[in-house]
Amino acid sequence: MKNQQSNAFILLLFLLPFISLNCHKRPVVNKSVDKKKILIKQEYAIAIHGGAGTILKKNMTPEKEKQYIDAMTQALEIGEQMLKKGEEGLDVIEAVIMYLEDNELFNAGKGAVFTHDEKNELDASIMEGKTMNAGAVGGVTNVKNPISAARAVMEQSAHVMLVGKGAEKFAKDKGQEIVDPKYFYTKKRFKSLENAKAKEKTTGDIFNENPDYKYGTVGCAVLDKNGNLAAGTSTGGMTNKRWNRIGDAPIIGAGTYANNQTCAVSSTGHGEYFIRFAVAHDISARMEYLNESLEEAANHVINKKLVEKGGSGGIISVDKYGNVALPHNSPGMYRAWANPESRGVRIYGDAEYE
Ligand code: ASP
Repeated sequence: MKNQQSNAFILLLFLLPFISLNCHKRPVVNKSVDKKKILIKQEYAIAIHGGAGTILKKNMTPEKEKQYIDAMTQALEIGEQMLKKGEEGLDVIEAVIMYLEDNELFNAGKGAVFTHDEKNELDASIMEGKTMNAGAVGGVTNVKNPISAARAVMEQSAHVMLVGKGAEKFAKDKGQEIVDPKYFYTKKRFKSLENAKAKEKTTGDIFNENPDYKYGTVGCAVLDKNGNLAAGTSTGGMTNKRWNRIGDAPIIGAGTYANNQTCAVSSTGHGEYFIRFAVAHDISARMEYLNESLEEAANHVINKKLVEKGGSGGIISVDKYGNVALPHNSPGMYRAWANPESRGVRIYGDAEYE
């Protein structure tokens, strides 16, 4: 009996450090995470947007709808093929966004909107989740593919963000394709500027809500086969912007964010709100500090926080497990996604082209 007691005592002494350690440890209450989703780690994942806004089926012609669907499908195809081959996330972001920048349907690169002074000033950014390196350009007027210039800033300079003439000089020095600013002229976007100015005269609102004023910013987020996350965003900004206004697209943490511990995000919408609410970083932070799933974090920021303050738009995102979230609080958002389990292109609600 005495022996048994002393054995129990020794055992207690041995276990004491473990018991006390566990008592002090914060319980891992992960009630919010969708267990089923995170258990399945996808080999790769991609999400793309082509802008958010008052995109309504009733205002769309079948031809226009088809053009957008074809372009988004093609962008998805380019990205997914590269990811399947095991290509690096940053290369995928650059290739997908360059394709969209070269397509005048989108408000990025070739199809950029006009400023109040009848110019096109382009913004873009890119970020890598593994190193958390990032690069951005703002207000460039002659760089054909701002996303490549943003990548050059990240990889070939000691800086994160370059703007205006300096950014243009840097891009030229680094061999980026430089074009005559007239390259960015499109009739459709010029007409939008004229409409915006006419409306401003009567309403006083410089960014008055009109479907054509800004829609078509582009962005991409990926998880590559090495488990690395990356994101990028490119835009012409908002029609009728002035005083060298720069939106959220080139702001790391607002328009673009990637962190291998959490997620990769690209935003689109009324940039001033996305900057003030540090939208892309906020989603990542909620995952990191509150243990929320990507879907919960993204929904909270887009459909609660922004809605309460009147900020319209949406984001596309992928997490480190390859889950995808594409919330938007505007009636539509051109968007596409793929991972080995699911694939799709959408414009309005969740149903296909409805
Ligand atoms: N976020 C962009 C900006 O404010 C515009 C957009 O995404 O529609 O510049």
